Amino acid sequence: MTTAACTGPNAVMIASAVRHRIADAATEALPAEACGVLGGRGPGLVTAAIPVANRSLDPRRFRMCPQGLMHAELALQRARLNLLGYYHSHAGASALPSDADRHGVFWGESATRLNIVFAVQSGDLIVFSAKGLYWRQVSAIIC
Ligand SMILES: [Zn+2]
Repeated sequence: MTTAACTGPNAVMIASAVRHRIADAATEALPAEACGVLGGRGPGLVTAAIPVANRSLDPRRFRMCPQGLMHAELALQRARLNLLGYYHSHAGASALPSDADRHGVFWGESATRLNIVFAVQSGDLIVFSAKGLYWRQVSAIIC
């Protein structure tokens, strides 16, 4: 896509390389879920996705490796990117957040973050603005 497609007042823009990286990580992780952090320079433009090891023993859930999470956040800092949020995948067809996603300890932070959920079977990618239990779907433009 061209840069002209990267416009939209109320949408989050996601670099196509980020979408590809999430899709690749999700496919490689099967049957488990993939997870990682999202970075970018502004609040509405996601330019980086850094994978973090999933330590969950349940293939239908994810638990980011704490050390991996720390390393990913440091990598964002070194690249002078802001932590914008997180991503994870679902092995099935639905990219809607599960109850476990909404109630996860991980989401208890006080800041509003982006959360991308990618569904491997359907290829759907949905972006949410999340704060605690409150997840609101937001428009996304892949550019
Ligand atoms: Zn989930």
